[in-house]
Amino acid sequence: MNDSISALILSWYDLNKRRLSFRDTGDPYRVLVSEFMLQQTRAEMAEAYFSRFIARFPDIRSLADSPLEDVLKAWEGLGYYSRARSLRRAAEIIRDQYGGNVPDTCDALLSLPGVGPYSAAAVASIAFGVRTPAMDGNLYRVFARLYDERGCVDRDSVRRRLSSLALADMPEDRCGDFNQAMMDLGAAVCVPGTPDCAACPLSCLCRAYIAGHPESLPVRAKKRPPAQKDYAVVILRRQGRICLFRRSEKMLNSLYVFLLIPLPEETGIREVLDRADSFLLSRVPAKPAFYLGSAKHVFTHQVWNMALITAECDAESWSGPEQHVWTNVEGLASLPMPGAMKAAREKALQLLSGPAEEGKINSRSLSLNLMAENTTGSTVGCDSK
Ligand code: SF4
Repeated sequence: MNDSISALILSWYDLNKRRLSFRDTGDPYRVLVSEFMLQQTRAEMAEAYFSRFIARFPDIRSLADSPLEDVLKAWEGLGYYSRARSLRRAAEIIRDQYGGNVPDTCDALLSLPGVGPYSAAAVASIAFGVRTPAMDGNLYRVFARLYDERGCVDRDSVRRRLSSLALADMPEDRCGDFNQAMMDLGAAVCVPGTPDCAACPLSCLCRAYIAGHPESLPVRAKKRPPAQKDYAVVILRRQGRICLFRRSEKMLNSLYVFLLIPLPEETGIREVLDRADSFLLSRVPAKPAFYLGSAKHVFTHQVWNMALITAECDAESWSGPEQHVWTNVEGLASLPMPGAMKAAREKALQLLSGPAEEGKINSRSLSLNLMAENTTGSTVGCDSK
């Protein structure tokens, strides 16, 4: 064990640790919830949701016994909804197989849905003091620099090597604090790009810093650019209500969206409206569609370019296979919807707020190119997988 690294980082942590509401709770359930939230979300953002989530679901049983839709609603805005589904399923398993107690070993934690090696190690070390490094992107970056690792950190062999080095540096006690200290260092000091080595408690031991090239590490594999997907997002209205569709595919499972019509790339607005009209004609009596604006949402692997349009229905009898509900303002607020629907939901709320807003609907004669337009309601870096 490199005592110097653990001693230096723990001393630094005692003075500089981030004050986060989910820290130092001593409650394994809270640690589990926070680690699910932190899988794809920055700690500062997760904190804003954590207290509200815990107030709504204070323990394993309340979470396991709640309908999935309630859990998804409490998760709304955090994105990556598969985490919420997995967390609730994990709570059911803990209730049924572990007497409501979060398991205290990495192996048992790893058997829970949505728990990978990082989360298992984080929960085991923070909640139960298990001596195991919680290797996420932050820790791989910090240890790649500390040990001047030039191999690509996306390779398994390099990751194994860095994990071994991190384990060797871990103290026998305060294992959870060691992991959290490294996480804080990676978030605030040893950041991607140019690290703040002048403020780092480990600079005297850091091989990349001593060699003069910390900003060149870690070496990463080239990422493929996200796929571009174009959709018409149709806000269907009838007598003060809006039609929402409950999706079942993996990415949007159990979430509500407006009618989504896939479009070929770079479809002009006039063609978008014609496609929407013919799609609607096959499913519900409706008046011609109108263009409202555009929006963009960036997922991890996809970018959605959306034309927001609206149409008034003459009847509620939807004849397509899609599962749908007609809802009002309260429903728009209470049903779980992915972040990609944020701009469309705002438009829908405006439309429901009165006839004056309907008069603002744009003319069908618009012929702007969807891809070339300014976007509204853009949400970056939030996924709904
Ligand atoms: S000295 Fe610089 S590169 Fe090395 S661990 Fe500290 S912040 Fe990171």
